[in-house]
Amino acid sequence: MLTLALSKGRILEETLPTLQAIGLQPAGDIDRLLRVPSRHPEVQHLIIRPTDVPTYVEYGAADFGIVGKDILMEHGSGSLYEPLDLGIAQCRLMVAGLPGTKPLRHRRLRVATKYPEITRRYFAQQGKQVEIIKLYGSMELAPLVELADVIVDLVATGKTLKANGLVVLEHIADVSSRLVVNKAAMKTKHAALRYWLDRFREATETAHA
Ligand code: AMP
Repeated sequence: MLTLALSKGRILEETLPTLQAIGLQPAGDIDRLLRVPSRHPEVQHLIIRPTDVPTYVEYGAADFGIVGKDILMEHGSGSLYEPLDLGIAQCRLMVAGLPGTKPLRHRRLRVATKYPEITRRYFAQQGKQVEIIKLYGSMELAPLVELADVIVDLVATGKTLKANGLVVLEHIADVSSRLVVNKAAMKTKHAALRYWLDRFREATETAHA
């Protein structure tokens, strides 16, 4: 039996057509069940929060998983194999703020984000020490009420920024969903994992042909 950890929410919705194409669609209520059989007797799914997917896969509670590059960058991806870019849930990780936001001289830049590690690394690479304010959602509000000078957040269409009067200031990284694999399972369950990796690769190539 193989266990695949799926990221609940937007990524799961965008993953369903691929799962369908390779015969791994969930065979159960994905809105309520946390562990669901798939249409294939030898693969089951875990439906979990995206931020938890790297942990389940790293510890081997799941053999492989599907998760956004943003979460992998924040988690640190060295403990997992990342063999395939699925090309879904594409967006960009950006620094955004009110138009005309300038580097501040009198105090450290305050950055609101749910990605403290990525943010710290990004500004440190530029030789900047910033004050990071960890939020769990609705980052766009922070500059409007002067909780922060700028935000680090995902931008897809840009509509959320625009609706809140914010603009992109800097591009940090392109983001899409990745297939990740537990390192030990890649050895002990090699043939089975190889088979499914090949199916995912084919489906991804077909979808983007
Ligand atoms: P948009 O208005 O299309 O630019 O989408 C921006 C909002 O959707 C922000 O609140 C983002 O955090 C969120 N978002 C955009 N793309 C993704 C994604 N691939 N995964 C999770 N959240 C996303």
